[in-house]
Amino acid sequence: MRIVYEPYEMQEIANKYREWGKTIGFVPTMGYLHKGHLSLVKEAKKNNDVTFVSIFVNPTQFAPNEDLDKYPRDIERDEELLKREGVDFLFYPTVENMYPDGFQTYVSVENLTQVLEGASRPTHFRGVTTVVSKLFNITKPHRAYFGKKDAQQLIVIKKMVENLNFDVEIVGLPIVRESDGLAMSSRNKYLNKKEREEAVCLYKSLQKAKEMIDKGTDDAETIKQEMRKIIEKYEIPKIDYISINSLSELKELKKIEKDNTLISLAVFVGKTRLIDNLWI
Ligand code: AMP
Repeated sequence: MRIVYEPYEMQEIANKYREWGKTIGFVPTMGYLHKGHLSLVKEAKKNNDVTFVSIFVNPTQFAPNEDLDKYPRDIERDEELLKREGVDFLFYPTVENMYPDGFQTYVSVENLTQVLEGASRPTHFRGVTTVVSKLFNITKPHRAYFGKKDAQQLIVIKKMVENLNFDVEIVGLPIVRESDGLAMSSRNKYLNKKEREEAVCLYKSLQKAKEMIDKGTDDAETIKQEMRKIIEKYEIPKIDYISINSLSELKELKKIEKDNTLISLAVFVGKTRLIDNLWI
């Protein structure tokens, strides 16, 4: 695996592979890799001639009060994991290389980013769509792989690609979970023992929602109330939001719509804000 630090160098490599008629699979990450990230890498490897992974903790998607400085990092371990997966190129740029002095251009998707994560984190998605646009221009992928864990991010990026005619296929893949159901996340590292135990409440509440829907309940408010009750049984977790939206436009739903429903939530477990969701 070759590690590339400079955007122009990564772009030259991408151009070469394109000239040679090879397909490029790309997985953007912020590092501190876990099996969720690696599931994307495996899929990229399987379906493309060459696999690029990026590790970049993108400052523009963090608000000043968020965890940019303490975001977990372990580049040596990440390199080892990616080598083991047979990744061809790791793009690992510096902040200065991605945002040099004078940087002043942003990409923003409008309505889809006003709700859910966007309502709680108003500057977040502008940072995400800007960096992903840059990464697409640098790595020139045929296919790019994203997790359904960040459901709104995946939906927003699909919209951006469609609206701005990016020539890339966006592939969304299932959430990878720990054995007790907690969705894997780099941020799980922040949890102490008791918080880690109670963090399972997100998954438990989604399971309850699934059960209710399977039994025929389709009223969104009833489902949200039951989910809230489950979380409130725990000591530490504090709900940020629980929401039921259409997958197509992220409009709030009163009734569950088959194949067009996203149930999502954000919960503070101590100081750590966790998200999880269920695609119906
Ligand atoms: P991050 O490093 O958190 O920015 O995540 C990089 C990519 O990995 C994003 O597309 C995430 O949605 C995806 N991802 C993170 N956690 C999981 C998970 N538990 N299962 C599947 N994909 C994930």
